Amino acid sequence: MRLRNVRGSKEAIAESPYVINNPEEYRNKWREVFNNSNPLYIEIGMGKGRFLTRLAQQNPGINYVGIEKYASVLYRALEKREKMKMDNLYFIGMDAEDIAAVFGEGEVDWIYLNFSDPWPKDRHAKRRLTSKEFFGRYDRILRKDGRIEFKTDNMDLFDFSLEQIPLTNFEITAYTKDLHNDAMNEGNVMTEYEEKFSGLGHPICKLIAERKK
Ligand code: SAM
Repeated sequence: MRLRNVRGSKEAIAESPYVINNPEEYRNKWREVFNNSNPLYIEIGMGKGRFLTRLAQQNPGINYVGIEKYASVLYRALEKREKMKMDNLYFIGMDAEDIAAVFGEGEVDWIYLNFSDPWPKDRHAKRRLTSKEFFGRYDRILRKDGRIEFKTDNMDLFDFSLEQIPLTNFEITAYTKDLHNDAMNEGNVMTEYEEKFSGLGHPICKLIAERKK
């Protein structure tokens, strides 16, 4: 997702108390940002932030960080965030390629990937957030028994992910190709893209990945 440049978005992001603009400085110190030792859950490619703002409201005992590479999109999440009274949600504007510079070894408890960009050309496969290259990065930052959850309506990307993940230190412990008609849907929080594409009749796929035992 890339929105037209929103005037003032870069300035608003730079000045916001909810955006961590120097995230590398908090590597291994994220609990200081939240001033507690609660678990840390992150969403990579959060888009306009509906999923994470809802989770943060529902779960005050969990710390959340949303990561989004485009300022114009992050700004939309920030607009939502600013209307809410909660102290367990921060954002970072960055490309997740550098994620291991921002979180320490095992510092993250849970990773959400929702409706990640499909990068359909083979030569761009390494940019897919479920590629073995990205899972290698997640391997560094995720707690030993941490989890990765991935949702998409893109069947090619989902099938690619089912093939890639077993090539890494992770295994797929559950998956469905029709989330909204599956027991895995219990407690599901819809993202902006999920609402749009399920509204168009696309089935939603979901998988859970955990480290190989
Ligand atoms: N997760 C949201 C949802 O489900 O509604 C947004 C989905 S949108 C298709 C994917 C988002 O991921 C875009 O906003 C894009 O800018 C962001 N994104 C893609 N690759 C990224 C990366 N390497 N680092 C950070 N954000 C990324």
